[in-house]
Amino acid sequence: MEPTVALCGVWHSYGDASEGWTLKGVDLQVEPGELLGLLGPSGCGKTTLLRLIAGFERPLRGTVQLDQRTVAGNGVWMEPERRGVGMVFQDYALFPHLNAWQNASFGLPRRHPNLERVAWLFELLALHGLEQRYPHQLSGGQRQRLALARALAPAPRVVLLDEPFSSLDVEVRLRLRGELSSVLDACGASGVIVTHDPGEALAICDRVAVMRDGVLHQCASPPEIVRSPATPFVGSFVLQRNLIPVHAGDQGQFSCLLGDLNASDPWLQADRRASGDYSVLVDPHDINVVADAGGEAIVLGREFLGDAWEYRLLIADLLVRAHCPIDQELPPQTLCRLTFRDGARHTVLPHAELN
Ligand code: ADP
Repeated sequence: MEPTVALCGVWHSYGDASEGWTLKGVDLQVEPGELLGLLGPSGCGKTTLLRLIAGFERPLRGTVQLDQRTVAGNGVWMEPERRGVGMVFQDYALFPHLNAWQNASFGLPRRHPNLERVAWLFELLALHGLEQRYPHQLSGGQRQRLALARALAPAPRVVLLDEPFSSLDVEVRLRLRGELSSVLDACGASGVIVTHDPGEALAICDRVAVMRDGVLHQCASPPEIVRSPATPFVGSFVLQRNLIPVHAGDQGQFSCLLGDLNASDPWLQADRRASGDYSVLVDPHDINVVADAGGEAIVLGREFLGDAWEYRLLIADLLVRAHCPIDQELPPQTLCRLTFRDGARHTVLPHAELN
């Protein structure tokens, strides 16, 4: 099947490009019916990418295609209102002087508005009975549902959602984000959702595009990202793993500040390479912390996660995060020894510094 959205070699800058690019040659496709997550830290260019698809920004280089039709680039420009793209904003952007029904019908053609579809969307999104209410008379969750109904009313092929759940309380956020995929399915629409929350992206998206500083690091399904993070950044930001420098010796042994990695580990065998410097991604669950007055690591701080403690530890000048059982309470400044847990999984990548 042909992609619903295709970005090809897209470069963008808000000012003088010689002072830096906001997007640096992004290639990305959204498949029909999929929910694609745009994930990355604040300022990495996620909203800019969304605005380029919607037509609120023009790419300085590269093309944007919708249903195989170029809408920006190569001398072509299609206005946002003609693109058939729905948009849901973080702050809902509802019209305060219109009631819920009028808000949802706003984008429909004046002559032949499909009001049956609006009524169907009110049912689908559990807004039935709230038609006459004004936005200030709705809860946060209802306002967000209404914003989604308004975006879906003109039957767009793709809906763009910019951090749609960030101002909702946790219970409503979890419920709404769980429903998003089935609502889009029912409407036959693809979705692109911007989020800076790795847990949210991995939980609800069919594929996740991970960005940093205007560069796409990886675009893959959540299980693929967990199995094979493409870059150290994907491993540390998305999967919250430790990035530890490791040296591979002539005999194929990998050693680091936490000791030797188990060379017979099949995960490591698969990654075995020539001697030299690498980085290894290690899950916080896979690090043992043992209080030891002669140890080289020191506890800097801890957070209670509910089912574990997360310790922040310093060994030499390396910051390490480790998860320990809740009965293992170590006060700050405790000296410790760190080792790899038996069966720990390692992903070895080319050596990289993360700032
Ligand atoms: P994200 O959505 O990942 O937080 P954005 O796409 O909003 O990132 O922003 C990317 C970069 O572009 C940031 O450095 C931001 O300051 C800059 N930027 C965003 N919008 C504008 C604008 N209208 N004018 C100038 N710079 C902008």
